[in-house]
Amino acid sequence: MGSLPPRSWRQLSVAVIGGGIGGMSVAIALRRSGHKVTVYERADFAGEGDPVVLRSLINRDWYTGEPVSVYSLDDYEKRWGHVYNMFHRQDMHKMLKDTAMQEQGEGEPVKLLVNHQCQDIDFRTGSIVFKNGTVAQHDLIVGADGIGSVVRLLIGVHPEKKPSDQSCLHCNVYTEDAVKAGLVDYSQDSALEYWGGQEGKWDKIVLSPCNGGKLLSYYCFFPRTEGDYTSHSWGSKDLPVEELLKPYPNLDKQVLDHLRIGHEIQPWRLWVHQPYPYLARDTVCLLGDAGHPMMPHQSQGACMAIEDAAAIGILFSKRFFQGDIEESLATYNEIRLPRVTRVQAAAAKAAYNINERIGFSVNKDTKTYKVEDAKKVLTIEEMNAYDMYHDIEEVLARRRDETYTGKHLHGLPIGMELPNGVVIGQ
Ligand SMILES: Cc1cc2nc3c(=O)[nH]c(=O)nc-3n(C[C@H](O)[C@H](O)[C@H](O)COP(=O)(O)OP(=O)(O)OC[C@H]3O[C@@H](n4cnc5c(N)ncnc54)[C@H](O)[C@@H]3O)c2cc1C
Repeated sequence: MGSLPPRSWRQLSVAVIGGGIGGMSVAIALRRSGHKVTVYERADFAGEGDPVVLRSLINRDWYTGEPVSVYSLDDYEKRWGHVYNMFHRQDMHKMLKDTAMQEQGEGEPVKLLVNHQCQDIDFRTGSIVFKNGTVAQHDLIVGADGIGSVVRLLIGVHPEKKPSDQSCLHCNVYTEDAVKAGLVDYSQDSALEYWGGQEGKWDKIVLSPCNGGKLLSYYCFFPRTEGDYTSHSWGSKDLPVEELLKPYPNLDKQVLDHLRIGHEIQPWRLWVHQPYPYLARDTVCLLGDAGHPMMPHQSQGACMAIEDAAAIGILFSKRFFQGDIEESLATYNEIRLPRVTRVQAAAAKAAYNINERIGFSVNKDTKTYKVEDAKKVLTIEEMNAYDMYHDIEEVLARRRDETYTGKHLHGLPIGMELPNGVVIGQ
């Protein structure tokens, strides 16, 4: 005789596989929801700031550096309740790790076990086998093990992927060095700045100011025919600066001079993954790059990982979790898959057309403005007006045969008109 699942909240023992931005975020979310969390990380973390508050997005002409399209973020805090912070990834990771593990705050501090590389999972028992010979058992397993996820394969998802036609090299420029050399001080703009990226072109330079403006982080894109890094990995020996400059004979001299004094030149492998069919199976789910790797052109990879983490935290909270893990993970799958798939597709489009990037996507008066379908562009409004609580309430109500009385559809307010002309609910 089968038994009915329990109908009340219970504390779970959770394994998070992978301690990156997504893994640490979900560890914080689950700790705050009252669960016992252990993060298993394959690496031996050494660990590594201040954000920059962004004031605008600037797209510049490739040859002259003159602004072509500017999206102001001046009213961002007024509209969305918080400023637009730009963090360096390592700083953000350290902040999340500290928050997860510190005594202070809601819930039990998260346990972090490094040098634990997941190799296998037994779905019947919830036991996890690590390369170091350890075996652990948990009620819920979150696969946050990044783009090369093992957990993904173990739950039966086999990526359909191909190398992108675009390559990317990253480098850091110290503002102090640039100023000493008499170069433009881009940190003064407090902006995410782009050179090129117009329709059909793979060439693009992206500048993100970090660490309170002291560090300028550059992502330099070019056609893969100019240099193929698909089999290189991040963290190997730094590349020579000549290799970084080679694809850019005609680039605006002011930014080119910045690249000349670049440090830590590293390739960023770019692969295009087709959306996966599901994000959860039994008591195991995927999160972040493990579940939906995307091209970097909407700057949303970490954002989506953090949203996934928030969804898991909310679903397993005292308000929503009624003891049935599979119900919660099925709901997770239902709310997250469409949203991340949409962002994934928009990121692939923005790779060769900067007008598809959120922000610029609504600057219709720009001379070079051209998008695939104006009604389908991704907008800041769609990202920021989204209310995850409503989305979860709506789906859970249906699954539990209850009535949803909220005024949202898939988390967006019914009747809201997005700048692309779409009215929610019509
Ligand atoms: C150069 C660069 C710039 C970026 N810029 C932005 C940006 O501006 N905005 C944005 O939103 N996103 C950005 N991203 C994307 C963002 O960083 C990623 O989407 C995000 O870090 C994904 O987080 P994750 O936790 O899912 O994966 P990861 O950060 O890759 O973490 C996965 C972790 O799992 C561990 N692991 C792997 N396999 C195993 C295993 N078998 N067992 C145990 N542990 C394992 C890894 O060691 C790693 O610590 C950028 C990425 C890069 C590389």
